[in-house]
Amino acid sequence: MPARTVSLIGSTGSIGTQAIDVVRAEPDRYRVIALAASTSVDELAAQAEELRPDVVAIADASLAPKLRELVPDGVEVMAGPESLAALATEADVIVNGVVGFAGLGVTLAALRAGRRLALANKESLIAGGPVVQRARATEGAEILPVDSEHCAVHQCLRGNPIERVGRLVITASGGPFRGRSSAELADVTVEEALAHPTWSMGPKITVDSSTLMNKGLEVIEAHELFGQGPSGPLSGPEGYDRIDVVVHPQSVVHSMVEYTDGATMAQLSMPDMRLPIGYALAYPDRGEAPWGAIDWSTLGRLDFEPPDHDNFPCLGLAYEAGRAGGDAPATLNAANEVAVAAFLDGLISWLAIADILKETLDRHNGGRLETAEDVVEADRRARERARLAVERRTESR
Ligand code: MG
Repeated sequence: MPARTVSLIGSTGSIGTQAIDVVRAEPDRYRVIALAASTSVDELAAQAEELRPDVVAIADASLAPKLRELVPDGVEVMAGPESLAALATEADVIVNGVVGFAGLGVTLAALRAGRRLALANKESLIAGGPVVQRARATEGAEILPVDSEHCAVHQCLRGNPIERVGRLVITASGGPFRGRSSAELADVTVEEALAHPTWSMGPKITVDSSTLMNKGLEVIEAHELFGQGPSGPLSGPEGYDRIDVVVHPQSVVHSMVEYTDGATMAQLSMPDMRLPIGYALAYPDRGEAPWGAIDWSTLGRLDFEPPDHDNFPCLGLAYEAGRAGGDAPATLNAANEVAVAAFLDGLISWLAIADILKETLDRHNGGRLETAEDVVEADRRARERARLAVERRTESR
């Protein structure tokens, strides 16, 4: 069999480097034909040296001359923010590991080209919902989620009729602040928020995990991925009634599907993102490297508890935005990116993140998303409002 070709967009980030591990484990099976990063030029060049892709791209065009100097002869160099999406149309599988809303162009380009999109950039699907769904209808286009929970749901749905789904149960580790009271949450530091108990991820998603916003975004993501079609059990605003979240601190059960006959299917493995990445690359086959295999002699116990909605209001805000639909998820996502960046910069407290989201959502008018430009505009407006909300807080400090 010829090697399956892979484009890695966001190749120097957490998802990108782990995707390279997956490729290294089965070098005859995959051929990386394109690599793209936003600014990490040295690391990108080192990856190009090892993997010998046809083309590399750097979003920050000012770094292009340096990249040209560093990459091996014969590797084409592209530059500029548009170059990332330009690399998302050729390979059999496009891995979108771009962080945040900037990944929208890559998602749309891959789907419109009728490719398989291995999607780690959940923000593009959440913010761009209706527009991404239209692109997904392109012949040959498909989304394989590179998110442990949705990869688990994807596996639990295989071979079962979607109309017999009773509910999805999305698991959450609970993050580093699980079990804390609101008083204890008032002065948590950036360092504490970045110390995730089970997963090693980038800073933005790690903060999202500490607020449970990551889980909220994943509820919307699950609705987008599995709730399509006019009459499926997960479709429409009522579909959200069938997506539950349960806190599971060990992060071994990655999510579950309960069927109408009462049976629950779960997918278990040790927390290791290389499993969902490998699944998305190999599907419908499976990979050969046992990334998340469980040692049952040391596993101990698996605990489950309901989420604490009072101290982690971001989760409820996400359900609200999801049910509202239209531009509400884009608004929530944009406000969250602004608020998290302000928290990481030391401008606002951890508790203020949820307040800023609520304020931004309350002030948004509600609108439909017909085109990619509508998504960009909804995102821009929400960022503006969220920045004002941040400024009001920094001035009063
Ligand atoms: Mg996840």
